[in-house]
Amino acid sequence: MILVVGGAGYIGSHLVKELVKEKEVVVLDNLSTGHRWAVDERAVFVEGDLGNSKDLDSIFSTYSIEAVMHFAANSLVGESVVDPMKYYQNNVAATLTLLETMKKYNVKNFIFSSTAATYGIPTVEMITEETQTNPINPYGRSKLMVEQVLVDYAKAYGFQYIVLRYFNAAGAHESADIGEKHTPETHLIPIVLQQLLGERESISVFGSDYDTPDGTCIRDYIHVTDLARAHILAMEALLSGKKSTATYNLGNGLGYSVKEVIETCEKVTGKSANVIMAERRAGDPARLVASSEKIYHELGWKAEFSLEDIIASAWKWHLRGV
Ligand code: UDP
Repeated sequence: MILVVGGAGYIGSHLVKELVKEKEVVVLDNLSTGHRWAVDERAVFVEGDLGNSKDLDSIFSTYSIEAVMHFAANSLVGESVVDPMKYYQNNVAATLTLLETMKKYNVKNFIFSSTAATYGIPTVEMITEETQTNPINPYGRSKLMVEQVLVDYAKAYGFQYIVLRYFNAAGAHESADIGEKHTPETHLIPIVLQQLLGERESISVFGSDYDTPDGTCIRDYIHVTDLARAHILAMEALLSGKKSTATYNLGNGLGYSVKEVIETCEKVTGKSANVIMAERRAGDPARLVASSEKIYHELGWKAEFSLEDIIASAWKWHLRGV
């Protein structure tokens, strides 16, 4: 049995849909941002909190857990700046409770969702796992703190882990049964698609004076199904008995500017966007593009979906109007 903490959320629910094809799965989620309907019906669902040791005890004493995947976190940079306590409480303290329970039940395989935000403002074109981490906001720091805890838990308690640093997750499941649904929505691709559907007046481009070819920020967009596949490979590596304390970037290796994303959305949907140039958003680095060579060499993973594929799948999901 695999425990997926945060399996009702955007990325977690996509992973669960793939994972149930090969494993028994129990999902723990407090539904603070996730959705019960997003959890595949083949998984056992437990509504509860990873910071609550009673909820954890009841799962670990009921099921024989082989590995834990941890997706349950708050992940909005701006919110983390105004409410850091929420981030250190939910992303760090609650994770320590989860790790403590794993130790208690002698479960030592852990797959952790981390983020490109751990790198801060990188000075290199392509970010590798060797690139210095230097997060510039509480969200990135909260994720890096857990990464550091894992280093020590591996040494002291024999934990095996794989840390996956996501770049910009986007897109929806091919079935269009599940997709990205945040309230409020802050991410670029869903915002553009909502505008193209007439659900928003306009799209604000946050800054057009960055040091990039067209002046807008460049990001590395990665299909959520590609992310799900990476988790399954990571799990298989851990369950094969491979000793691991690895950290991997998950990106496409291709950067697209905000303007390019909007243009691709227009192309895929055949609609024209109403775009407004706006001020920069605090905490946005000009360019974040991953090298994912390491996970390709070590686990054989590479991104398979293009930006057009990502947007086409997201559009199919948005047209459902869930
Ligand atoms: N962005 C934008 N307008 C929006 C939302 C996002 O210009 O309404 C920009 C944002 O400043 C960043 C890029 O789009 O440069 C991706 O932002 P998103 O919030 O999707 O992901 P992040 O990179 O912050 O994780």
